Amino acid sequence: MESINILLENLLKFKTRSNSLPELNAVIDFVEDYLKDIQGVHIRRYTVNGKPSIYYAFNNTYHPEILFVGHLDVVDAKDEDFIPRREGSILYGRGSMDMKGSCAVMMELLREMSKETSRPNVGFLFTTDEEVGSEDGVKYLVEHEGIGGEFVIIPDGGEDFQLVVEGKGVYHVKIVAKGKATHGSRIFEGENALDKLVSIYTELKSHFHPEPCGDPEHWHNTINLGKMVGGDSVNRVPDYAEMYLDVRFVHPFTVSKIESMVRDVLSKYPGTEFETISTGEPVFTPRENPYIVRYKKVAESVLKRPISFIKEHGATDGRFFTERGMAVLITAPRGGNIHGNDEWVDLDSLKTLFEIFFRFVNEK
Ligand SMILES: [Zn+2]
Repeated sequence: MESINILLENLLKFKTRSNSLPELNAVIDFVEDYLKDIQGVHIRRYTVNGKPSIYYAFNNTYHPEILFVGHLDVVDAKDEDFIPRREGSILYGRGSMDMKGSCAVMMELLREMSKETSRPNVGFLFTTDEEVGSEDGVKYLVEHEGIGGEFVIIPDGGEDFQLVVEGKGVYHVKIVAKGKATHGSRIFEGENALDKLVSIYTELKSHFHPEPCGDPEHWHNTINLGKMVGGDSVNRVPDYAEMYLDVRFVHPFTVSKIESMVRDVLSKYPGTEFETISTGEPVFTPRENPYIVRYKKVAESVLKRPISFIKEHGATDGRFFTERGMAVLITAPRGGNIHGNDEWVDLDSLKTLFEIFFRFVNEK
């Protein structure tokens, strides 16, 4: 399908770095303009803290049966990375794989499906802040505008058509300890704030698997001490210290279980407090979910080969939907070097992705 390729080359030319509001608005203008001829479609454009998003559905609903979700912002890159370069079926350019290629597929799907006499109950959401946490995109739209679906497909992970139905949750916390300053020669007259944090960290860490753990998938909870600040001199007892922890966790753990663990440990240390910085529930869709089963069957029949399930360590937009009990599938075309130099996507695989999505939505 040459139209997907041309569309993708056009999308790649927008320098949609996450902080560039004019470019983010320009790319959403482009989407709107590209799809303006489609009749009788429900459209809503949002702007939250300057970040634009656009939603399309064939039915007048914000909760269609199937919702496709994509983002048009990209991680930072050199200006020349925004000039698409094609070698055979490979297209290079920032955002080609993550995830303007998939967005081009979604736009063509919308156009193609709009021609059907009986249009499917499908929605499409395009956002522009995924690379910086989705606060003003998916998170806001799910929480405040009720956008969702019975089955949510996010073509942004699981390279080469693998199926991601499990992703780790995330819990970022700042822990503060206060003590009493005194001279390092008379520690018995003071209370060492850093010392408290070391004890708290050691105790928290005992709830996690030590590495090496023996599990090649590392499908277990992890804790990282990312930053610790406190003290100013070798011979002083510090009266203030803080540390920042990054906890990643698997289903059936939840944000509230991890938070209780932190609260329980801290309750043993007077003069300490914590502040939750950010959270995301794990993604978990059972492999026997009927949508997953049917999607896998369709994808394998189009690809003429078996495809496998994989697990995702990093947080994805999927978390905002699974938090509300929606079934999520994350998958992707063939490509690579995301966030690196020479990001690329295989244009043939975009055509395949289109075919899988089209058949999945239309064959019941
Ligand atoms: Zn491990």
